[in-house]
Amino acid sequence: MDCLFCKIIKGEIPSFTIYEDEQVKVFLDINPNTNGHALIVPKKHIVTINDVDEELAKHIIKVEKIIYHKLKEKLHIEGLTICQNNELGQDIKHYHVHMIPRYQDDNWKMQFNQESLKEPEEVFKQITTK
Ligand code: 5GP
Ligand code: ZN
Repeated sequence: MDCLFCKIIKGEIPSFTIYEDEQVKVFLDINPNTNGHALIVPKKHIVTINDVDEELAKHIIKVEKIIYHKLKEKLHIEGLTICQNNELGQDIKHYHVHMIPRYQDDNWKMQFNQESLKEPEEVFKQITTK
């Protein structure tokens, strides 16, 4: 299968791997948002959160905590944003979790289009109407 992250997992493409076990590999993002931006990637090729079973989900949370402690100890990060894209916004179609260290001076701003926003009440009705 022609998947970039599968190739990184197999070692066919080099990566700065900071943690590895039988289920996941964690390596630094090649185009980081902040210093220490890492990706937790399951060794099995799956695509979105819909493919993640409970056992893997549990394991990923365990690894998230391990990486959090490591980044805190080694890089003195001041916070950590964990996020994961599915479909739109997901460039690599092999499931991965972003671990993005936060620093007081990182100046992170997420900008969404305010004009497309409806009132939360309207959205609530849309979601809950049968
Ligand atoms: P996505 O948009 O799929 O949530 O995130 C994909 C991430 O993979 C991006 O942050 C991008 O910088 C990272 N990435 C893309 N190609 C490579 C690569 O070859 N090596 C590494 N380490 N990261 C990559
Ligand atoms: Zn893959």
